[in-house]
Amino acid sequence: MSELAINGGTATKTKSFPAWPHYDEREQQALTEVLESRNWWRSQGNCVAKFEQDFAAFHGAKHGIAVTNGTHALEVAIAALGVGPGDEVIVPDATFVATASSVLFAGAMPIMVDICRDTECIDPDLVEAAITPRTKGVIPVHLGGHPADLDRLLKITNDRGLFLLEDCAHAHGSEWNGKKVGTHGVAGTFSFQSGKLMTAGEGGVIITNDDAVERNLRSVHDCGRLPGEWFYSHFSYGSNYRLSEWQGAVLNVQLERLDDQIRRRDANSFLLDKLLADIPGITPQTRDARCTLHSHYAYIFHVDSSEFAGISTGRFIEAMNAEGIPNQAAYPEVHKIDLFQNGAYRSRLSGEQATEEHPFLQADFPNAHRAASEDYWVPQYCLLGDEQDMQEIAAAIRKIQASADSLS
Ligand SMILES: *Cc1c(COP(=O)(O)O)cnc(C)c1O
Repeated sequence: MSELAINGGTATKTKSFPAWPHYDEREQQALTEVLESRNWWRSQGNCVAKFEQDFAAFHGAKHGIAVTNGTHALEVAIAALGVGPGDEVIVPDATFVATASSVLFAGAMPIMVDICRDTECIDPDLVEAAITPRTKGVIPVHLGGHPADLDRLLKITNDRGLFLLEDCAHAHGSEWNGKKVGTHGVAGTFSFQSGKLMTAGEGGVIITNDDAVERNLRSVHDCGRLPGEWFYSHFSYGSNYRLSEWQGAVLNVQLERLDDQIRRRDANSFLLDKLLADIPGITPQTRDARCTLHSHYAYIFHVDSSEFAGISTGRFIEAMNAEGIPNQAAYPEVHKIDLFQNGAYRSRLSGEQATEEHPFLQADFPNAHRAASEDYWVPQYCLLGDEQDMQEIAAAIRKIQASADSLS
């Protein structure tokens, strides 16, 4: 039995995973063109406009509105959908804080509900149970790239006249029943922050098929202007969320690689499923059969400590890291984040909402808790590697299992 790297043994990983982000002379060329054109602003150039069209078309959507980041994409969408003080929006408890904080930014209350144990996406039964007369909409998150149950969520929201806004920050190009995410509900938001599936360092986009919503989105993201109107006319409250031409230029090239990269990650995820299948205590995030393409922002699996000499997942992660396998931290439960526990969230609310009790913030969310404390996330760029890379991930887990006693 070989000694674990964390105890001074040799690391399992013999070569590096692919570096991220990917770039080549096409990004260099595109950036030089923007530089030399002197059109660095989206209103002068055509890189952002082209990107909006191509990204929307890739997803089968009519419109794309590029914005400064994925958080702003949510804020702009929520404003464009008319959410305001007194309203509630239902979000999953396992996500990045922005899914919930963007609702607060609108002066409304995010209502967190637990996720499904198997897919780790928002639980439609709990969404249904959380609806009140104040509810305006639901924001599912396609966690790790796996779509939430869009069939059930659409039925629930359509029956009650609520909006369904998809937070697709992990899921560029993922499909549900053969249809890309971001096009099932009224709109979908994406992030191009550096760890996401394509990147310009920062950036975001909103896609929609609804012409009226598109008009609102465009106006909110551009200081309340309307297309075709005089530059200094402002028709509604908005701010400046515009993306620069530099980022548009880079994203146009990144989009050319996206489909190949998704397919490579998806193929590697099936290989990992096979390699991990007979390791006791390792359970990958369940893939619903209706997920017809999975972009894999991460390969997520649950670690049952009883099969690893009782060590915590935190300790397992340290041992994996020493073996050369990176981990992307799982999200803490949103309702347990300081903002919601120390009362600071109330500063965004008004009226009754600012002072009433929110008992769900003290409740237990068993599946979000399990995901936050017992899951391992293999980052997306690792899945762009080759077969040997996948074998080394599995080998590192087996090695740790065999010597888990030495870690406790
Ligand atoms: C990254 C992320 C966001 C926010 O995107 P930024 O570009 O970082 O602002 C929103 N929701 C989820 C689920 C994310 O992972």
